Amino acid sequence: MKKDNETGDLKGAKILVVEDERDLAGMVAFALRKRGHEVDEAHDGADAWRKIRAGKPDLVVLDLMLPGVDGWEVCRMIRRDETKEIREAAVLMLSARAEAEDRVHGLELGADDYLTKPFSLEELRLRVEKLLEKRQAARVLYEEVSQLHGKMQEQEVGLRRVVHDLKTPLIAMGASAKLMMRRTPQEENLDFLKNIYENSLRLTRWLEEILVFSDSPFKGMMGGMEETEIQPLVKRTVDLLRPAAGEKNIEVAFESQSSLPPVLGSVKWMQRALENLIANAIKYTPEGGRIEVGVFSHAEGESVEIVIKDNGIGILPDDLPKIFEPFQRGRNALGEKGIGLGLSLVKEVVDLHGGRIEVKSEPQKGSTFALILPVHKGFPPKGGATGIYN
Ligand code: ADP
Repeated sequence: MKKDNETGDLKGAKILVVEDERDLAGMVAFALRKRGHEVDEAHDGADAWRKIRAGKPDLVVLDLMLPGVDGWEVCRMIRRDETKEIREAAVLMLSARAEAEDRVHGLELGADDYLTKPFSLEELRLRVEKLLEKRQAARVLYEEVSQLHGKMQEQEVGLRRVVHDLKTPLIAMGASAKLMMRRTPQEENLDFLKNIYENSLRLTRWLEEILVFSDSPFKGMMGGMEETEIQPLVKRTVDLLRPAAGEKNIEVAFESQSSLPPVLGSVKWMQRALENLIANAIKYTPEGGRIEVGVFSHAEGESVEIVIKDNGIGILPDDLPKIFEPFQRGRNALGEKGIGLGLSLVKEVVDLHGGRIEVKSEPQKGSTFALILPVHKGFPPKGGATGIYN
């Protein structure tokens, strides 16, 4: 198909006119040929289908009342065909019936437009041109999207390669530093080695976060979903991070409602999300602060709520809507190390579990993050207590 530079019309489209009234078919074909299109005719459903398969037309003008296989069926076969070109052919239905149900049924079957007999050849021509234009625009868009997709995939492969290449020497550096820490008797060197070791660990973790992101959306994760008791999982994560809080003299309180229903989830990813939230609370809370982690029943036992509250630096109101997006950091957070991927990973994990995350924060006062995860269906909901929200 080409565009005529003077009229702007598309020319050279392959059109099949399917109409059992031969005179009408001939007239329609003649009018469309005059517009520079390549037109073929079919006079029954079976012949139409043969010609569609062989010629893969851009557009089919399709009468509904055909001997043998009718127009509805031909339209259904077009839309269900395995060949993309056939499936995406434009279909203009023709019918002697003007009933709204016929029109709706035609559109439901995948027809792009519907014309009631009698019609003027000029009207048919206009409708055909419109459909061809739409189809051409959709093709261009589709090609652009596929090209973009291809480029993104290339970039992703490149990124994964770089991340893998960076991880190997980093891990080796960290391991060597750890080894030297054990063998070095001089106190003053120990601090330097500890620094190398911890920074290599931090960088490795960042790289892993980037990898998780490019592995979107956590390929294979859903396979690892299991019934999970949330209270021990949160407790374990709090205990894991307690030493880091201790280094900043931050007190971490843990509170949990008893007998909570289980959640259907991936232990690995839920723990990762919790680690990110608690590590953030520690990171963004100054020396001597306080963190409260709690697990509660929510929405009359329909979900479980995990709350992480700190009295740290808080988040500026303008930054709040952006913090769950990848690589977004708060303007008051730049004094701390980070790349802005932690919360986006949390959000992704929560979404995949069918839950949600809420945040309330006030600069200089602190932040409260609440993860709300649906209870594993089949487990009887328990009424009663709610969390610290509302
Ligand atoms: P990073 O911590 O690497 O910057 P995150 O995605 O984990 O990235 O967090 C995004 C931003 O959200 C942070 O830069 C910070 O501004 C804000 N933030 C997250 N948690 C807290 C918190 N507990 N207290 C204050 N700000 C926080």
